[in-house]
Amino acid sequence: MEVAFIGLGNMGRPMAACLMRDGHVVHGFDVMREMLDGHVSDGGRAAASVAEAVRNADAVVTMLPAGRHVREVFTGSGGIFASLGDRKPLLIDSSTIDVATARDVAAAAAQRGLDMLDAPVSGGSAGATAGTLTFMVGGPETAFARAAPLFKAMGRNIVHCGASGAGQAAKICNNMMLGINMIGVAEGIALAQRLGLDLRKLFEVSSTSSGQSWALTKYCPAPGPVPESPANRDYVAGFATALMLKDLSLAQAAAEDTGAPTPLGAQAARIYDRVARDYAAKDFSVVFKWLSEKSREDLT
Ligand code: NAD
Repeated sequence: MEVAFIGLGNMGRPMAACLMRDGHVVHGFDVMREMLDGHVSDGGRAAASVAEAVRNADAVVTMLPAGRHVREVFTGSGGIFASLGDRKPLLIDSSTIDVATARDVAAAAAQRGLDMLDAPVSGGSAGATAGTLTFMVGGPETAFARAAPLFKAMGRNIVHCGASGAGQAAKICNNMMLGINMIGVAEGIALAQRLGLDLRKLFEVSSTSSGQSWALTKYCPAPGPVPESPANRDYVAGFATALMLKDLSLAQAAAEDTGAPTPLGAQAARIYDRVARDYAAKDFSVVFKWLSEKSREDLT
């Protein structure tokens, strides 16, 4: 396929490279020149504008920072809708954005007779490079079928979650669970430490009993028990604290919109807001280190 790829940052550039490895031709566009240069050095074609990128595209993939960028790139003057004329390429937004914007933009696409999917990912830049991302997809079944070869080129676990917005909903609910969970594990270990309990013993107990979780056994936030976890590499992300805060904030916006009670999600967002002031670029499991450096009084 001829694919337009808009947003060639940490995630977009390696995702575009996966599409090229699979034989697709990728016309990339990014507002930052150096991102475009990186894409060209990977074997991609550089477009000077959104309009040029989408000119002959069978599919358009966007990987942008936030909802406002997605709205602008799709609906703005010089954006995707304004540039397509009568052509109807498949549209896939893989950015992590708020559910309301995802639904609005998909509705605007549907009004123009365009197939659009929200398809946020998990797996980070390592998963993007390896082509092993998880895609959580919302939108019509027909669009999902059309997108299958592209998802397979970039990902491994591809789940059609429901109608437009369902992909974003799955992403923020999953990450809210993860954020709450990680804080729980970090608190347990930090308390054990102050009680003088050997971490290896706590791990031996909790990893095989009711305290068990992915955050503990696969991504332990304290150095030692899980050699591959970021805690052993001074919390080099991984999944940055700033991105966890973004996802928790999106979950809170959705909770406010729907009236869903999320007391722990709200508290997790407040805690990550504070962690991000010290450690925004570190892996989100750094919440353990942050807690270990604090006293009870610091947090009241
Ligand atoms: P990034 O900031 O590295 O890349 C975004 C790119 O979009 C930048 O290169 C920026 O110049 C470009 N851009 C911004 N506005 C533009 C516009 N109007 N036109 C064209 N290009 C524009 O971000 P990232 O880490 O690649 O993340 C992208 C999305 O993926 C975010 O929504 C993020 O939450 C999500 N995500 C990131 C990760 C991760 O580990 N990095 C994991 C899962 C999901």
